[in-house]
Amino acid sequence: MTDANQGFTLSESIRRAHHLESLDVAWFEEPLPADDIGSHRVLAARTSVPIAVGESLYSVSQFKDYLSAGACSIVQVDVARIGGITPWLKVAHLAEAFNVPVCPHFLMELHVPLCCAVPNSRWVEFIPQLDSITRTGLSIRDGRAYASAEAGLGIDWDWDAIGRLSKVAPVVVR
Ligand SMILES: [Mg+2]
Repeated sequence: MTDANQGFTLSESIRRAHHLESLDVAWFEEPLPADDIGSHRVLAARTSVPIAVGESLYSVSQFKDYLSAGACSIVQVDVARIGGITPWLKVAHLAEAFNVPVCPHFLMELHVPLCCAVPNSRWVEFIPQLDSITRTGLSIRDGRAYASAEAGLGIDWDWDAIGRLSKVAPVVVR
């Protein structure tokens, strides 16, 4: 995968996509400003590299506009940014209807169980940011993530660690 963080113009993204084609990358992520669906549509039509968008989209309607325009071929819907589990599932099912994979952005502790619930998930970003404040939960073996067998989201918070880390140093008042 390669990520441009919305950094390129249309012509530059087309030029770079053509170079990426020979490298067989999994996707070209956020090549253009996220609200420029038209340019994403043009780029997607001119390259075989899958175009990934979603971490900067905040509504089901925005994903509908991208998918119906054929402007992306991977959706990276983020459960925190889209507004929770219900809209996340709506976007995942919408993508399924367009035969587009869902590869969520960030928050793997929430996204692994969600990906287990839809047939069109492919990849989950590995960002173990909660390891110091959780005990168990998802496990990763041989490059595959497994959701917790516990009820709900399966996140076992280490409240003692959270308490230690959330202590605020007193402010000195003069
Ligand atoms: Mg990104």
